[in-house]
This record gives sequence, C-alpha cells and structure tokens, in this order.
Amino acid sequence: MFGDVLIIDTWHRQRGWSGIGYHYVILNGKPYRDGRYIDFLDGQIQPGHSLNADPIFQDFEVGAHVAGRNASSLGVCLIGTVEFTDAQLLTSRRLILSLLRRFNLPIDAVKGHTEDPNANKTCPNIPMDYYRQFLKDNGTLHELQQHIEQHVKTLRLG
Ligand SMILES: [Zn+2]
Repeated sequence: MFGDVLIIDTWHRQRGWSGIGYHYVILNGKPYRDGRYIDFLDGQIQPGHSLNADPIFQDFEVGAHVAGRNASSLGVCLIGTVEFTDAQLLTSRRLILSLLRRFNLPIDAVKGHTEDPNANKTCPNIPMDYYRQFLKDNGTLHELQQHIEQHVKTLRLG
C-alpha cells in the first residue's frame, strides 16, 4: 500500500469532498504508486487538509473522517490496509498521546473507525483493545504487530 496527503487529497476530492478529511497522515515510507520505499519517510507525520498547512491542530479545523462525528473528533490515518510499519505504530503512539494530553482526554477516547456503530467499516484493521493497551504502555510493539496479524485473519476484507 502506498500514499501520502497529496494522493488522499486527490481521492477525497474525486468523491466530491473539499479535500483530505484526515487531520494527520502517518506515512509508511511508500508515498508513490510505484511502491518505492523511502526509508526516511517511514513513520513521518504529514498534516492533513484542515490544518492550514501547519501541523498544529486548532479547534476550528474540523475534519471529514467519520460521519456524524467530525465536529467532535480528530482523524489520524495510517497509510496501509492490513500492514503497518513499526515506525508508523510508534509515531501514532507519540502523536495520539500528545493530542490526548493537549485535550485532556483519556486513552479510552481513542477509537477505531470500526468502533463507530454507524460505520460499517473494519478499518483501521487494528484490534483497538490491544492498540489502547499499547498506548498505555501495557503491550510491546512486537505484541501489537502479532495481534494485528491475527486480527486481520479474522476479517473479511472486500
Ligand atoms: Zn475508516
């Protein structure tokens, strides 16, 4: 899987949206269609459309990533479908813990799209209970990767 903010922005515009819906995108090192791996981009954060081209989220910068909840949530996207790099998962933890501190929210406020009862989605294809344990530092990166691998086998992906 490949992609970056620019590509997702194009995809979302093609759907008739005003642009990329996510606030943050975490790269897997393969931003281009040709799948070429650029190691220093692995785990990098790119600010999404609504961040006014800066990486700091401001309260008025409402995204478009989960129907009905955009005004009360922040969207973080990891490039990939069923596989994420170690660097991506570590970066996601740093970013999300920082955002939770800033908004004084508990780890349980972190939800996968699939956990929205109105969304018929499997994404992010990460077992969220284990992911929240990882955020709490109760699980290692290696364990999380193993849980993702197991979880993906239980999914029927379209
Ligand atoms: Zn989703």
